[in-house]
Order: sequence, then C-alpha cells, then structure tokens
Amino acid sequence: MKKKKKKNIIRMVDVTNRDGVQTSRVCLSKLQKTMINIYLNEMGVYQSEFSFPMTSHEANYIDANLQLVHLGVLKPIMLSGWIRAIVKDVDAATKNTKIQNLHLSISTSKQMIEGKFQGRVNKKDVVKMMTEAVDLAKKRGVRHIGVNAEDASRSDLDYLVTFAKAAKEHGATRLRYCDTLGYDDPFTIYKRISYIVDKVKIPIGIHCHNDLGLVVATSIAGAKAAIDSGVDAYVNTTVNGTGERAGNADLVSVILALRYSSGFAGKYKLDPKINLSKAWKIASYASRAFGIPIPINQPGVGANAFAHESGIHADGALKDRRNYELYDFEELGRGKPEVIDTGRKITAGEYSGIKGFRNVYERLEVKFDNEKEAAKILELVRYANIHNQSPLAKDELKFISTHPEIAKKLFTMSL
Ligand SMILES: [Zn+2]
Repeated sequence: MKKKKKKNIIRMVDVTNRDGVQTSRVCLSKLQKTMINIYLNEMGVYQSEFSFPMTSHEANYIDANLQLVHLGVLKPIMLSGWIRAIVKDVDAATKNTKIQNLHLSISTSKQMIEGKFQGRVNKKDVVKMMTEAVDLAKKRGVRHIGVNAEDASRSDLDYLVTFAKAAKEHGATRLRYCDTLGYDDPFTIYKRISYIVDKVKIPIGIHCHNDLGLVVATSIAGAKAAIDSGVDAYVNTTVNGTGERAGNADLVSVILALRYSSGFAGKYKLDPKINLSKAWKIASYASRAFGIPIPINQPGVGANAFAHESGIHADGALKDRRNYELYDFEELGRGKPEVIDTGRKITAGEYSGIKGFRNVYERLEVKFDNEKEAAKILELVRYANIHNQSPLAKDELKFISTHPEIAKKLFTMSL
C-alpha cells in the first residue's frame, strides 16, 4: 500500500504580547497579558510569543506564566520569548528565566545592517553572530529555537538562503521571514519564500506588517508559498491587528481568510485545534484592555460584520444567510445576549470593602472557604485594580480567586 504523504499545516503564532505591546501608545498589564495567553490557548492558537526575557519587569510575569504551563492551564499552547540573535541575550535569557522556546532576531537587509550597525558589522558577521547565538541556545538546552530575519522583504534573496542554511545547520527549527516594513505584496512574498524554501527545507514563520494595507493578504500568500514548497507555515498575528505602526495581521481575519477564501478553503490544512468560537471574547477583551475600539467594519467581530440594512441585502440574508454571509456569526461566538446591569451595581476596586467584594464574587458564583481566604482575595483584587488601572473583567476576578499566588506574582515587580 502506498504511504499517504503528510499534508503540511498552517499554524498560528500570536505576537500580541510582544509586537502588540511594542506598539506606540499601547500597553497591557501583566494580568492582561496573562489573560490574552489564556484566551489564545482556548482558541487553539499554536504559540504565543509572550515575552521579552531580557526585560527585567517581565521576570515575574514570565515565571508566573510558566507556572501556569506547569499547572496545565496554559496547555497545549507553546510560550516563546523574543530576544536579539546575539550571545549576550541568549546568555541572559537562559540564566534569568526558565523559558524553553526562543526566537532570535537579527537584521538581514543592507539598509538595516548598514543603517543600524553603522559599519561595525557586515553581512558575514551577521551570520556569525546568529549562529553563535543559536549554538549557545542549543548548549543551554533551549527546546525550540527560531531564527528571525528582520527586514527579510528588503534583503538580498541569496543572502537569505545563506542565512537560512546556516541557521538550520546550527539547529534552528524555524526561519521567520519578517516583512518588517510591510514592503512585500502577496505576489512578491510568494515568490521570495518559495525561492528560499526550495533551496533550504526549513519551516517558515511569516511576520508581516500593514504599512501598505496588505497585511492579511501577504501573510496568507507567504503561508501558501511555504506549504506549496513542502514545509509547515507559522503565520504571525495579533489580536485586533495591533502592532508597530499600522499593525500586524489580525488573528481572526487570518483564520477566516484561511478557512473561507476560495483559494484556501478545503485546499490547505489549517491547524485543526483552531476554535473560532472564542473570537468574539478575545477581540472584545483585547479591545477593552488596549483601550482601542474595534472598527465597526472589522471582519468577523466588527459591529457591522453581520449587519444588513439595504432592502435587497436584508431580504436576501433573511431568506438564506448564505446569500450575503460567507460564514456564520455563531461560529465566532457571537449571537448570545450580553447582560448589562441597569440598576444598582457593586464593583470591586482598590478601595473596596469585604461586603461589596463578597457581593461581586457571589454573582460570579465563587465561594470562599472562610473569612481569611475572602480577605486575602479582596486584598489581591485591590492590587489588581491598581495594576490594571481599570475595573476588572469577570474572567480576571475568577482568575485571581483560582490562582491567588500566581496573581500575586504578576502584581509584583522589583527593580
Ligand atoms: Zn513586527
């Protein structure tokens, strides 16, 4: 019997907690970053680039989230850190944290090598720095080592092949093609990634930006190139498309495009773990946490994504939803009524007392063993409010009462 060839797969790597929070005027608390990791895991996202292991204020957050991995709360999602592809960063990241998965990043374009290193480093040195960093990561027992070619879309193609070959030979298991400035279009990225993978068989991460409004299209074209050339693809996304400048590819939009566009539906294999029913929840949560409203015309989760007004459209959609809708709102976790209190409301905040606090948790159907436990959680909730600088969401309140010690760690920072 002929052995069936394994179909290559497209997985999601969400970088909200790295590129997303790097965005100008956007900030998430460590509790909010943790909630995003939890929701990404529920959504079946393969990997969350969740931290900067070189940044000291991330230390407790990293530790707390790795504990959640250990407890099975953040499972099966892979948590990975982002560092520069230099020995110094690998050394510090592996000494200061217990992170098992790292992405090592270095610039590969002439513009950036000359413009950033100012003549101190040439193209050859970049490969050497990267391979030395990979070697050390391997030596320190890092499980997954990805190598990122920053500004790949403006880099010389044959140089990228040399770079990818060296990375693979030294033990990197993935190459990230970074369209750092959003310079590629779907046609160029397809050709370029095909060229690299045809010469070096290495799984490809696709990291695109939206400076020219092409981000979802370039991301899926990059994935198509990787799959067509016989390797797995790892598309980088962020929740609601936040990210440096004009942003990264929106997580929900990319999934919808892979699942429903005519060239992908039924032809390419999207990670079967993906569960879109959490889309509404994660998009709403991130919008609130970022303080950035979701545009009404946002694919899937925008207020108008399933709205019909004109006579012909409304009539058509009512007769058969497929007349004007490619996919169902129920699939995205929409359609359930959301209850808003219009009467008296007791909230839990930084100055709450025990009575009001108990009322808040009773409504969440959370019970405490005794007064002492309730007082302890109340104190944590007060800290959480200051930490988030906003009223807490129900899931955050539940998280704090379920994992008080981990919550405490998240709120603690030391210099
Ligand atoms: Zn980026």
